[in-house]
Amino acid sequence: MIELPMDTSRSTISQATQLLEKQQQRSIELRASPARERLERIARLASAVRSEADALRAALHDDLGKPAPESDLTELFPVLQEARYLARHLRRWMRNRHVMPTAATLGTRARVRYEPRGTSLIISPWNYPVNLTLIPVLDAFAAGCPVIVKPSEFTPATSACLRRLINSNFPPEDAMSIEGGVETAKGLLDLPFEHFFYTGGGRVAGEIMRAAARNLASVTLELGGKSPTVIDQSADLSRAARILTWAKFANAGQTCIAPDYVYVHAAIAVDFQKALLEEIARVWGSEPAIRRNNTDYCRIVSTRHTQRLTELLADARSRGARLLFGGEADPAKRYIEPTVVWNPPAGSQLMQEEIFGPILPLLPFQDDEEVIAAINSRPKPLALYIYARDRKFIRRIIGSTSSGGVVINHSMLHVLHERLPFGGVGASGLGSYHGFYGFRAFSHERAILEDKFSPSRILFPPYTSLPRRAIALLLKVLG
Ligand code: NAD
Repeated sequence: MIELPMDTSRSTISQATQLLEKQQQRSIELRASPARERLERIARLASAVRSEADALRAALHDDLGKPAPESDLTELFPVLQEARYLARHLRRWMRNRHVMPTAATLGTRARVRYEPRGTSLIISPWNYPVNLTLIPVLDAFAAGCPVIVKPSEFTPATSACLRRLINSNFPPEDAMSIEGGVETAKGLLDLPFEHFFYTGGGRVAGEIMRAAARNLASVTLELGGKSPTVIDQSADLSRAARILTWAKFANAGQTCIAPDYVYVHAAIAVDFQKALLEEIARVWGSEPAIRRNNTDYCRIVSTRHTQRLTELLADARSRGARLLFGGEADPAKRYIEPTVVWNPPAGSQLMQEEIFGPILPLLPFQDDEEVIAAINSRPKPLALYIYARDRKFIRRIIGSTSSGGVVINHSMLHVLHERLPFGGVGASGLGSYHGFYGFRAFSHERAILEDKFSPSRILFPPYTSLPRRAIALLLKVLG
């Protein structure tokens, strides 16, 4: 793991402490910032991304072996799309939302005003480092919050690029990116931010909540988990195979919403296996040597993670899981080929922890109750994918389970839908973002009520007969 020496992280934190004081001042100014100023910051960040696109692509290639088209599709495009969407709608979202009086508040006027939560710390992970750092920054800008950003130490080239991009385009009191590892992140967590926006593994999420609890700050937690896929016998199998081959193996499976494991109906399991393996061979290469040299295929982020994945595979095989495809790994080159295993036991590590790599377990199921029970026996996942034509089956699975999001007859596409909230539930996260939901994540919904001619004063003490009768009537009619 790359970690700043203790002294460096200490001096970084003392600089961050001073900076946060400035940002606290700035955040008061930003409360009244007009849409025009926020839109200008959003446009400036989008234009910096466009002009630094080549450097970002090169850094992503260095860190993760990401091919340029994949970086464009999954890192740069979502950021630019978010900027465009915010630019189109921000003025409307910032307007006060007037609400009708209720019977008990007749004679008043009320509205909801979105105001910035204030100084925000954004901690981001390594798997989509540009996307998962800059979309929260855009959402914070939309809401009028100053930010300190701490990208992941596991993608040093991209984190350095993000530092240059943010720090050379914004004054530090508006936005500052700080590089560093766990010690730096922990030091930042000790500072009195008003909002913590964390994307990463669940293990650290508890520490983020503890830090927020110390200051009673708000949090958004974008976590992961084992996102299941269910393939019913009514599904279009070749379509499911085509999409899973992309969704599971893009970024070498290191995607928070990647299908983690697949339940396939026993009646079509053999047909699906055949369709899937043919598709994997067509897309990623029919021979191990072709797959190894496929420049469209990413690398694992670190040797340690590569080893972790090879251990998961070895453990599953030792417990009786059958290898259907792939299995070759080269930890020194951070390479694991697309791998499919059949029916690993529930107790195997592969079925216990989030895989976060290019190993796909396929498991048979006989009826919906079995698959629903299996999904509900695990922590609530970030996404659930259902492949089926049978609407009743789809309704039953959705109605009996819980997850951050659901996609029917596709995978991962919901992350690109700007009008949908993106986030988890329970173990997969708290809160959501993207588009309006991102603006809302960094905003406080302030309730404002103005009295015009409310008759409420007749309810006040002293409780003579008039207020007594008025309260009794209120209870009877409106209670
Ligand atoms: P990581 O190791 O890069 O950690 C994420 C961030 O947390 C880094 O910036 C790191 O420096 C910081 N960090 C590490 N230890 C810390 C500590 N003790 N205190 C404070 N900060 C600390 O990334 P990761 O956690 O391995 O990321 C992978 C996980 O993230 C997976 O579980 C994945 O599903 C999840 N994820 C979720 C989303 C989402 O949008 N919901 C997106 C991507 C990844």
